[in-house]
Amino acid sequence: MSLHSRLLLLGFSILLLNACDRYPEEYHHSSLQFGTLIDITLYDVDPELAERAFEQLDKDFEFYHNTWTPWAASSLSRINLLLPSGAGFSTGPSLIPLIEQSQKLAEKTEHLFNPAIGHLINLWQFHKHDEPDIQPPDDASIQQLVRQNPRMSDLKLDGIKLSSSNPAVQLNFGAFAKGYAIDQSIDFLKTLGIKHAIINTGGDLKAIGSHGDRPWRIGIRHPRSDGIIASIETRGEESIFTSGDYERFYIHNQQRYHHILDPRTGYPATGTQSVTVIHHDSALADAAATALFVAGPDQWWQIAKNLQLKQVMFIADNGDIHLSPEMKRRIILKQADQTTIIVSPAL
Ligand code: ADP
Ligand code: MG
Repeated sequence: MSLHSRLLLLGFSILLLNACDRYPEEYHHSSLQFGTLIDITLYDVDPELAERAFEQLDKDFEFYHNTWTPWAASSLSRINLLLPSGAGFSTGPSLIPLIEQSQKLAEKTEHLFNPAIGHLINLWQFHKHDEPDIQPPDDASIQQLVRQNPRMSDLKLDGIKLSSSNPAVQLNFGAFAKGYAIDQSIDFLKTLGIKHAIINTGGDLKAIGSHGDRPWRIGIRHPRSDGIIASIETRGEESIFTSGDYERFYIHNQQRYHHILDPRTGYPATGTQSVTVIHHDSALADAAATALFVAGPDQWWQIAKNLQLKQVMFIADNGDIHLSPEMKRRIILKQADQTTIIVSPAL
Protein backbone atom coordinates (compact mmCIF):
# COMPACT_ATOMS: atom_id res chain seq x y z
CA MET A 1 0.00 0.00 0.00
CA SER A 2 1.39 3.43 -0.83
CA LEU A 3 2.08 5.78 2.06
CA HIS A 4 -0.60 8.07 0.67
CA SER A 5 -3.33 5.46 0.73
CA ARG A 6 -2.17 4.30 4.16
CA LEU A 7 -2.42 7.82 5.48
CA LEU A 8 -6.02 7.94 4.33
CA LEU A 9 -6.66 5.33 6.96
CA LEU A 10 -5.43 7.63 9.70
CA GLY A 11 -7.73 8.10 12.60
CA PHE A 12 -10.10 5.35 11.51
CA SER A 13 -10.50 1.95 12.97
CA ILE A 14 -11.03 -0.46 10.19
CA LEU A 15 -12.93 -3.65 10.45
CA LEU A 16 -11.06 -6.22 8.42
CA LEU A 17 -12.92 -9.46 8.83
CA ASN A 18 -16.34 -10.51 9.96
CA ALA A 19 -16.94 -13.92 11.31
CA CYS A 20 -17.26 -14.97 14.87
CA ASP A 21 -20.60 -15.19 16.72
CA ARG A 22 -19.72 -12.79 19.49
CA TYR A 23 -17.53 -10.11 17.94
CA PRO A 24 -16.08 -9.32 14.55
CA GLU A 25 -12.79 -11.16 14.57
CA GLU A 26 -10.22 -8.52 13.82
CA TYR A 27 -10.00 -4.79 14.50
CA HIS A 28 -7.32 -2.70 12.93
CA HIS A 29 -6.17 0.85 13.61
CA SER A 30 -3.38 2.94 12.11
CA SER A 31 -1.90 6.25 13.14
CA LEU A 32 1.21 8.23 12.32
CA GLN A 33 3.49 8.66 15.34
CA PHE A 34 7.27 8.75 15.94
CA GLY A 35 7.53 9.61 12.24
CA THR A 36 6.29 6.12 11.42
CA LEU A 37 3.01 4.33 10.87
CA ILE A 38 1.80 2.46 13.93
CA ASP A 39 -0.57 -0.42 13.19
CA ILE A 40 -2.56 -2.04 15.96
CA THR A 41 -4.52 -5.22 15.38
CA LEU A 42 -6.79 -6.72 18.01
CA TYR A 43 -8.48 -10.08 17.70
CA ASP A 44 -11.58 -11.41 19.44
CA VAL A 45 -12.42 -8.29 21.43
CA ASP A 46 -15.51 -6.28 22.35
CA PRO A 47 -15.82 -3.62 19.61
CA GLU A 48 -16.44 -0.83 22.10
CA LEU A 49 -13.40 -1.80 24.14
CA ALA A 50 -11.35 -1.92 20.93
CA GLU A 51 -12.41 1.65 20.06
CA ARG A 52 -11.54 2.95 23.51
CA ALA A 53 -8.22 1.16 23.52
CA PHE A 54 -7.30 2.64 20.12
CA GLU A 55 -8.22 6.13 21.26
CA GLN A 56 -6.13 5.81 24.41
CA LEU A 57 -3.14 4.31 22.61
CA ASP A 58 -3.16 7.19 20.12
CA LYS A 59 -2.94 9.61 23.03
CA ASP A 60 -0.23 7.55 24.74
CA PHE A 61 1.94 7.42 21.61
CA GLU A 62 1.48 11.15 21.14
CA PHE A 63 2.61 11.66 24.74
CA TYR A 64 5.70 9.44 24.27
CA HIS A 65 6.63 11.26 21.11
CA ASN A 66 6.17 14.72 22.65
CA THR A 67 8.14 13.73 25.75
CA TRP A 68 11.02 11.87 24.12
CA THR A 69 11.63 13.76 20.89
CA PRO A 70 15.09 15.34 20.74
CA TRP A 71 14.06 17.54 17.77
CA ALA A 72 11.65 19.93 19.56
CA ALA A 73 11.12 21.32 23.05
CA SER A 74 10.34 18.26 25.21
CA SER A 75 11.26 16.65 28.54
CA LEU A 76 14.22 15.10 26.72
CA SER A 77 15.42 18.35 25.15
CA ARG A 78 15.15 19.96 28.59
CA ILE A 79 17.55 17.33 29.95
CA ASN A 80 19.88 17.83 26.99
CA LEU A 81 19.97 21.57 27.64
CA LEU A 82 20.86 21.04 31.31
CA LEU A 83 23.32 18.12 31.11
CA PRO A 84 26.38 20.13 29.95
CA SER A 85 26.18 22.25 33.13
CA GLY A 86 27.40 19.26 35.18
CA ALA A 87 24.97 20.26 37.95
CA GLY A 88 22.24 17.99 39.29
CA PHE A 89 18.63 18.76 38.24
CA SER A 90 15.19 17.17 38.49
CA THR A 91 14.26 15.10 35.50
CA GLY A 92 10.82 14.23 34.08
CA PRO A 93 9.63 10.96 35.69
CA SER A 94 8.70 9.33 32.36
CA LEU A 95 12.34 9.43 31.28
CA ILE A 96 13.76 7.71 34.35
CA PRO A 97 13.02 4.10 33.28
CA LEU A 98 14.44 4.83 29.81
CA ILE A 99 17.65 6.20 31.31
CA GLU A 100 18.01 3.35 33.81
CA GLN A 101 17.27 0.55 31.36
CA SER A 102 19.46 1.98 28.65
CA GLN A 103 22.37 2.41 31.09
CA LYS A 104 22.26 -1.35 31.73
CA LEU A 105 21.90 -2.20 28.04
CA ALA A 106 24.74 0.13 27.05
CA GLU A 107 26.99 -1.64 29.58
CA LYS A 108 26.07 -5.11 28.27
CA THR A 109 26.65 -4.09 24.65
CA GLU A 110 30.08 -2.59 25.39
CA HIS A 111 28.51 0.79 24.56
CA LEU A 112 27.77 -0.15 20.94
CA PHE A 113 24.17 0.70 21.87
CA ASN A 114 24.88 4.19 23.11
CA PRO A 115 21.98 6.67 23.48
CA ALA A 116 24.47 9.23 24.86
CA ILE A 117 25.71 10.04 21.31
CA GLY A 118 22.94 12.56 20.62
CA HIS A 119 25.49 15.16 19.39
CA LEU A 120 26.84 12.74 16.81
CA ILE A 121 23.32 11.81 15.66
CA ASN A 122 22.50 15.53 15.29
CA LEU A 123 25.68 16.11 13.34
CA TRP A 124 24.75 13.43 10.76
CA GLN A 125 21.24 14.90 10.36
CA PHE A 126 19.50 11.66 9.43
CA HIS A 127 16.21 13.20 10.53
CA LYS A 128 16.57 15.39 7.42
CA HIS A 129 17.42 12.47 5.12
CA ASP A 130 14.67 13.42 2.63
CA GLU A 131 16.01 16.93 2.06
CA PRO A 132 18.02 17.59 -1.10
CA ASP A 133 21.70 18.62 -0.74
CA ILE A 134 22.12 16.80 2.52
CA GLN A 135 25.73 15.74 3.01
CA PRO A 136 27.87 14.00 5.62
CA PRO A 137 29.58 16.17 8.26
CA ASP A 138 33.29 16.94 8.07
CA ASP A 139 35.66 14.42 9.57
CA ALA A 140 37.19 16.83 12.12
CA SER A 141 33.81 17.46 13.78
CA ILE A 142 33.15 13.70 13.91
CA GLN A 143 36.55 12.97 15.45
CA GLN A 144 36.09 15.65 18.08
CA LEU A 145 32.83 14.08 19.23
CA VAL A 146 34.33 10.59 19.23
CA ARG A 147 37.24 11.79 21.41
CA GLN A 148 34.82 13.23 23.96
CA ASN A 149 33.49 9.66 24.33
CA PRO A 150 30.02 10.32 25.82
CA ARG A 151 28.53 7.27 27.52
CA MET A 152 25.44 6.36 29.53
CA SER A 153 27.78 5.53 32.43
CA ASP A 154 28.68 9.27 32.61
CA LEU A 155 25.16 9.87 33.92
CA LYS A 156 24.32 9.72 37.60
CA LEU A 157 20.71 9.29 38.61
CA ASP A 158 19.83 9.76 42.27
CA GLY A 159 16.05 9.51 42.68
CA ILE A 160 14.86 12.02 40.11
CA LYS A 161 18.12 14.04 40.23
CA LEU A 162 20.21 13.63 37.13
CA SER A 163 23.72 14.87 36.36
CA SER A 164 26.49 14.14 33.87
CA SER A 165 30.21 14.00 34.57
CA ASN A 166 30.81 14.39 30.81
CA PRO A 167 29.54 17.62 29.20
CA ALA A 168 29.41 15.88 25.79
CA VAL A 169 26.50 13.59 26.76
CA GLN A 170 23.31 14.30 24.80
CA LEU A 171 20.50 11.76 24.94
CA ASN A 172 18.73 10.28 21.92
CA PHE A 173 16.51 7.25 22.45
CA GLY A 174 15.82 6.66 18.75
CA ALA A 175 17.16 3.10 18.95
CA PHE A 176 15.10 2.13 21.98
CA ALA A 177 12.02 4.31 22.61
CA LYS A 178 9.76 2.53 20.10
CA GLY A 179 10.46 -0.78 21.81
CA TYR A 180 9.83 0.71 25.23
CA ALA A 181 6.57 2.33 24.05
CA ILE A 182 5.35 -0.96 22.56
CA ASP A 183 6.01 -2.79 25.84
CA GLN A 184 3.96 -0.17 27.69
CA SER A 185 1.15 -0.40 25.15
CA ILE A 186 0.92 -4.19 25.17
CA ASP A 187 0.86 -4.12 28.99
CA PHE A 188 -2.01 -1.66 28.77
CA LEU A 189 -3.96 -3.97 26.43
CA LYS A 190 -3.29 -6.98 28.66
CA THR A 191 -4.55 -5.12 31.73
CA LEU A 192 -7.73 -4.29 29.82
CA GLY A 193 -8.21 -8.03 29.40
CA ILE A 194 -7.28 -8.10 25.70
CA LYS A 195 -5.50 -11.35 24.97
CA HIS A 196 -4.77 -11.27 21.25
CA ALA A 197 -3.03 -8.27 19.73
CA ILE A 198 -0.17 -6.99 17.60
CA ILE A 199 1.38 -3.54 17.73
CA ASN A 200 3.56 -2.93 14.69
CA THR A 201 5.70 0.18 14.20
CA GLY A 202 7.08 0.00 10.67
CA GLY A 203 8.05 -3.67 10.87
CA ASP A 204 9.12 -3.72 14.53
CA LEU A 205 6.40 -5.32 16.60
CA LYS A 206 5.14 -7.18 19.61
CA ALA A 207 2.41 -9.81 19.54
CA ILE A 208 0.38 -11.51 22.24
CA GLY A 209 -1.95 -14.48 21.91
CA SER A 210 -2.86 -15.64 18.44
CA HIS A 211 -5.07 -14.96 15.46
CA GLY A 212 -7.85 -17.36 16.41
CA ASP A 213 -6.86 -20.89 15.55
CA ARG A 214 -3.60 -19.88 13.88
CA PRO A 215 -0.54 -18.01 15.16
CA TRP A 216 0.27 -14.46 14.09
CA ARG A 217 2.45 -14.63 10.98
CA ILE A 218 5.16 -12.01 10.56
CA GLY A 219 7.22 -11.18 7.48
CA ILE A 220 10.78 -9.87 7.79
CA ARG A 221 11.81 -7.46 5.08
CA HIS A 222 14.60 -8.33 2.69
CA PRO A 223 17.41 -5.79 3.28
CA ARG A 224 18.28 -5.53 -0.42
CA SER A 225 15.03 -6.05 -2.33
CA ASP A 226 11.32 -5.45 -2.01
CA GLY A 227 9.44 -8.23 -0.34
CA ILE A 228 10.32 -10.46 2.56
CA ILE A 229 13.35 -12.59 3.27
CA ALA A 230 11.73 -14.76 5.92
CA SER A 231 8.60 -15.32 7.95
CA ILE A 232 8.00 -16.28 11.54
CA GLU A 233 4.97 -17.41 13.49
CA THR A 234 4.86 -15.86 16.93
CA ARG A 235 4.49 -17.91 20.11
CA GLY A 236 2.76 -16.28 23.08
CA GLU A 237 4.19 -12.88 23.97
CA GLU A 238 6.97 -12.05 21.55
CA SER A 239 8.70 -9.01 20.07
CA ILE A 240 10.41 -9.09 16.68
CA PHE A 241 12.73 -6.14 16.01
CA THR A 242 14.90 -5.47 12.98
CA SER A 243 17.56 -2.80 12.48
CA GLY A 244 18.56 -2.28 8.86
CA ASP A 245 20.75 0.06 6.83
CA TYR A 246 17.80 0.60 4.44
CA GLU A 247 15.54 2.23 7.04
CA ARG A 248 16.87 5.75 6.94
CA PHE A 249 19.77 6.93 4.81
CA TYR A 250 20.93 9.45 2.27
CA ILE A 251 23.19 9.21 -0.73
CA HIS A 252 26.02 11.66 -1.32
CA ASN A 253 28.57 11.23 -4.14
CA GLN A 254 27.15 7.74 -4.82
CA GLN A 255 27.89 6.69 -1.26
CA ARG A 256 25.11 5.57 1.03
CA TYR A 257 25.15 6.92 4.60
CA HIS A 258 22.71 5.12 6.90
CA HIS A 259 21.49 6.03 10.36
CA ILE A 260 23.05 3.43 12.65
CA LEU A 261 26.30 4.88 13.92
CA ASP A 262 29.32 3.10 15.30
CA PRO A 263 30.19 5.16 18.42
CA ARG A 264 33.83 3.97 18.14
CA THR A 265 34.37 5.58 14.72
CA GLY A 266 31.59 8.18 14.58
CA TYR A 267 30.59 6.86 11.12
CA PRO A 268 27.70 4.63 9.98
CA ALA A 269 28.47 1.08 11.11
CA THR A 270 29.91 -1.25 8.46
CA GLY A 271 29.68 -5.00 7.90
CA THR A 272 25.92 -5.42 8.38
CA GLN A 273 22.77 -5.19 6.24
CA SER A 274 20.25 -6.05 8.93
CA VAL A 275 19.73 -7.74 12.28
CA THR A 276 16.53 -9.32 13.60
CA VAL A 277 16.07 -10.17 17.27
CA ILE A 278 13.20 -12.05 18.89
CA HIS A 279 12.62 -11.57 22.63
CA HIS A 280 9.64 -11.15 24.95
CA ASP A 281 10.90 -7.67 25.91
CA SER A 282 10.52 -5.10 23.07
CA ALA A 283 12.80 -2.48 24.60
CA LEU A 284 15.59 -5.03 24.89
CA ALA A 285 14.95 -6.39 21.38
CA ASP A 286 15.07 -2.83 19.94
CA ALA A 287 18.34 -1.88 21.67
CA ALA A 288 19.83 -5.31 20.91
CA ALA A 289 19.08 -5.15 17.17
CA THR A 290 20.87 -1.78 17.00
CA ALA A 291 23.85 -2.99 19.08
CA LEU A 292 24.31 -6.20 17.04
CA PHE A 293 24.11 -4.19 13.84
CA VAL A 294 27.00 -2.01 15.07
CA ALA A 295 28.91 -5.05 16.34
CA GLY A 296 29.16 -6.50 12.82
CA PRO A 297 29.97 -10.04 11.62
CA ASP A 298 32.86 -10.70 14.05
CA GLN A 299 31.32 -9.41 17.24
CA TRP A 300 27.52 -9.84 17.03
CA TRP A 301 27.52 -13.31 18.59
CA GLN A 302 29.45 -12.18 21.70
CA ILE A 303 27.20 -9.17 22.26
CA ALA A 304 24.11 -11.39 21.79
CA LYS A 305 25.56 -13.73 24.41
CA ASN A 306 26.14 -10.81 26.84
CA LEU A 307 22.49 -9.83 26.38
CA GLN A 308 21.37 -13.45 26.90
CA LEU A 309 19.57 -13.44 23.57
CA LYS A 310 18.62 -16.77 22.02
CA GLN A 311 17.03 -15.90 18.68
CA VAL A 312 19.01 -13.78 16.25
CA MET A 313 19.29 -13.43 12.47
CA PHE A 314 22.30 -11.41 11.35
CA ILE A 315 22.67 -10.54 7.66
CA ALA A 316 26.22 -9.48 6.80
CA ASP A 317 27.16 -6.93 4.15
CA ASN A 318 28.08 -9.77 1.74
CA GLY A 319 24.54 -11.15 2.04
CA ASP A 320 25.45 -14.15 4.24
CA ILE A 321 22.67 -15.02 6.65
CA HIS A 322 23.86 -15.98 10.12
CA LEU A 323 21.27 -17.72 12.29
CA SER A 324 21.49 -18.73 15.91
CA PRO A 325 20.39 -22.39 16.28
CA GLU A 326 17.15 -21.36 18.03
CA MET A 327 16.34 -18.89 15.27
CA LYS A 328 17.13 -21.53 12.63
CA ARG A 329 14.60 -23.90 14.21
CA ARG A 330 11.66 -21.58 13.68
CA ILE A 331 12.36 -19.10 10.90
CA ILE A 332 11.11 -19.87 7.38
CA LEU A 333 13.54 -18.38 4.86
CA LYS A 334 12.02 -17.42 1.52
CA GLN A 335 14.99 -17.08 -0.70
CA ALA A 336 17.49 -19.88 -0.28
CA ASP A 337 19.32 -19.96 -3.62
CA GLN A 338 22.67 -18.15 -3.87
CA THR A 339 22.51 -17.29 -0.21
CA THR A 340 24.94 -18.69 2.30
CA ILE A 341 23.34 -19.68 5.55
CA ILE A 342 25.64 -20.00 8.52
CA VAL A 343 24.35 -21.45 11.77
CA SER A 344 26.21 -19.94 14.72
CA PRO A 345 27.23 -21.79 17.88
CA ALA A 346 24.42 -21.96 20.45
CA LEU A 347 23.85 -18.71 22.29
P1 ADP B 1 14.89 1.93 13.54
O1 ADP B 1 14.34 2.96 14.47
O2 ADP B 1 14.94 2.32 12.11
O3 ADP B 1 14.29 0.56 13.76
P2 ADP B 1 17.17 1.53 15.25
O4 ADP B 1 16.32 0.95 16.32
O5 ADP B 1 18.40 0.75 14.92
O6 ADP B 1 16.42 1.74 13.89
O7 ADP B 1 17.57 2.99 15.74
C1 ADP B 1 18.36 3.84 14.96
C2 ADP B 1 18.32 5.24 15.55
O8 ADP B 1 18.98 5.21 16.82
C3 ADP B 1 19.06 6.26 14.73
O9 ADP B 1 18.17 6.96 13.87
C4 ADP B 1 19.65 7.18 15.78
O10 ADP B 1 18.71 8.15 16.19
C5 ADP B 1 19.93 6.27 16.94
N1 ADP B 1 21.26 5.64 16.91
C6 ADP B 1 22.13 5.50 15.87
N2 ADP B 1 23.22 4.81 16.22
C7 ADP B 1 23.05 4.48 17.53
C8 ADP B 1 23.84 3.75 18.48
N3 ADP B 1 25.03 3.19 18.16
N4 ADP B 1 23.35 3.62 19.74
C9 ADP B 1 22.16 4.16 20.09
N5 ADP B 1 21.38 4.85 19.25
C10 ADP B 1 21.80 5.01 17.98
MG1 MG C 1 16.78 -0.42 17.80
